[in-house]
Formats: sequence, structure tokens, C-alpha cells
Amino acid sequence: MNQTIAPQSGIMEITLYQGGEAHVDGVAEVVKLSSNENPFGPGEKAREAFAKTVHKLHRYPSSDHAALRRAIAEVHGLDADRIICGAGSDEIITFLCQAYAGPGDEVIHTEHGFSMYRISTLAAGATPVEVAERERVVDIDAILAASTDKTRLVFIANPANPTGTMIDENEIARLAVGLPAQAILVLDAAYADYVEGYDGGAALVEQRENVVMTRTFSKLYGLGGLRIGWGYGPRPIIDVLNRVRGPFNLSATQLETAEAAIRDRDYAKKCRLENARLRVWLAEALAELGVPSDLSCANFILARFHDQAEAEACDDYLKSRGLIVRRVAGYKLPNCLRITIGDESSCRRVAHAIAAFREGKG
Ligand SMILES: *Cc1c(COP(=O)(O)O)cnc(C)c1O
Repeated sequence: MNQTIAPQSGIMEITLYQGGEAHVDGVAEVVKLSSNENPFGPGEKAREAFAKTVHKLHRYPSSDHAALRRAIAEVHGLDADRIICGAGSDEIITFLCQAYAGPGDEVIHTEHGFSMYRISTLAAGATPVEVAERERVVDIDAILAASTDKTRLVFIANPANPTGTMIDENEIARLAVGLPAQAILVLDAAYADYVEGYDGGAALVEQRENVVMTRTFSKLYGLGGLRIGWGYGPRPIIDVLNRVRGPFNLSATQLETAEAAIRDRDYAKKCRLENARLRVWLAEALAELGVPSDLSCANFILARFHDQAEAEACDDYLKSRGLIVRRVAGYKLPNCLRITIGDESSCRRVAHAIAAFREGKG
């Protein structure tokens, strides 16, 4: 009699994810710098592989993703049997929460951490625990102090989004060693591809039983629209995640495009170098205008303004000129704007517009 239709507890606490805006009313041509996308898109080889898959759309795709896992393993020097592929790294994050956290369990994310950690935690019925950062940098000691016998997962992005900051590999190893025995450390390495020579935490995964790394094709590889990511972890954990993964979670189009993309190392390198060059240029140009940012290791910078009002006024001004960047008040950074590194002309346009904004204020 008193039965009502209601979702599982925790679900209604989820605030809907706000994607980066893509349109401005009344402005026909916009430059979208709000979602950390590769401004050049995927390389030619990935585009060709994508197009070819039109001939097999009636066939079910591979359910073990063996060819893509082999390609990833070869390129990164990993064990293909410990790789799991998903619809973006978001899906790997979802699998982790679903498989390892439930009612009564705690999942740690940091103050400015990526919003998917909290969403997936609540969707699994578990309790998100937010830990303070220190000057926009992940604080290992604060995480260790916050971990309890209920902690099941700890999510850290390195480099982090939206701060762009990175912590040292020794610090991450110290965290992995110091966590309680039942907790998994998840290293979200979505931006690791932008850091020359950084393995995203793969070596730590090899050494430990409690570390999982997640990666994506959405950023450097320019395939955010196609939804492909992967995880690397200890065999027992990957085995668990494969049990909750739908057998056909990725289409042949996703699998084959990603395989071509990861094998095209020249294109990836070209994009990495161009991003690094323009990131330095934009950060310096804004610093000269009195808009500082932390040293970013990713494909965006987090521009800091005097206060929230100035950040919002600048955002409105940029928007009026067709430049869409990201407000990050939802990430507890109300005085900041996150600006994706676009191509050269976009970076110049942003710098000129912010200069004009600053001058307009006299
Ligand atoms: C963009 C991003 C991802 C990637 O998400 P996908 O689902 O792979 O597109 C993961 N983590 C962080 C911190 C990100 O910014």
C-alpha cells in the first residue's frame, strides 16, 4: 500500500553532469575550448579505419577486444591480459564503482577532482568523501588521513583536471603503499599522453596489487566523440571488471578506429608537441596580462582571475566574441576559467580577447 516508485538511495543526490558548452546564441562561428578536445581531431589513419567499418555494421563486434588490447599493449609495453576497454574511461570508472563500492562504503576524491568520480560513487550507492587539495595540488597526506576501514576506492587524476597540476611518482607510490588493505588506488591518466615520457602510473600497477590506471582516446587521440577508453590493473581486478562489463560494450567502429589511432605514433607525437608549444605560449601571454595559471601538464590551462565576478565577466566577454571556455565554479574554483589549448589561431584569439577585456576594464 505504501509502496512508491523510487530510485536506489544516493541516486537523487547526483547532480547532472554539465558538459562544455558548444553554442552561443546569435554567434554563428564559435571556437570551442571548453571540453579539452584535440583541436585537430583524429589522424588520417584513424579516420580511414573508421570509414572502413561501414562494411561490417551488421556484424556483432569482438567481445574480448583482443586486437585493440594487443595494440595498446605493444605501444605501451604492457600485458594485454590486464587491459580492459570501455566506452570512454568513464565506463571503466563506472565498472570500478559498481564492482567495488556499495552502501556503507566510502570512495575518496579530491576537492577539485573530476566530477565523474562522485557521480559513479553515488550511482553505486556508496558515499563520496571529498579531500582538500593544497593550492590546487592533490595532497597525499590529506588522502591518507581521510582513508578509513570503509574506503574502497581512491580516485586521483594525474595530471589533474581542471587544475592541470601533477604530483610526483614517488608521492603516488607512497599513497599506494599507505592506503588500507581493502582500498584500490585509481590513477586517472586521461592526460598522461601529454606528458613526454610519463607512463601514467603503469609501472606502479606492475608493482602493486592495489593500483589501477585508466586511459582514454578522448584527449590526445582526438576521439572524444567515439567513446573509447581503457584500464590497466592487476589480473584479479581486471577479471572482476570484465564480469560487470557488457560483452558488446564497444562497437567494431570504436575498436578499429582506436587501434589505428594508437598505432599512429607519429600523429600522437605531433599533437603532443604542438599542444606543449601552444600551452607555453598561451600561459605566458596571459601571465603578461596579469592572469596567472599553475604550470599545466595537460591540454588546457586554468586561468586565475581576481575573483568570481571577474572570471564570469571575462567568460561573458569571450563568449560574446565566439570563444567558449569552461567555468569551473562547480569544481570549487569560482575565480578561474579552464581554457583548452586549441590550434594556434584559437590561442591567439583567446589571448587577444582577454587583453581587450582587461583594457576595457581600464
Ligand atoms: C576527459 C577526462 C576523462 C576521459 O573521459 P572519457 O570517458 O574517456 O572521454 C577522464 N578523466 C578525466 C579527469 C578527464 O578530464
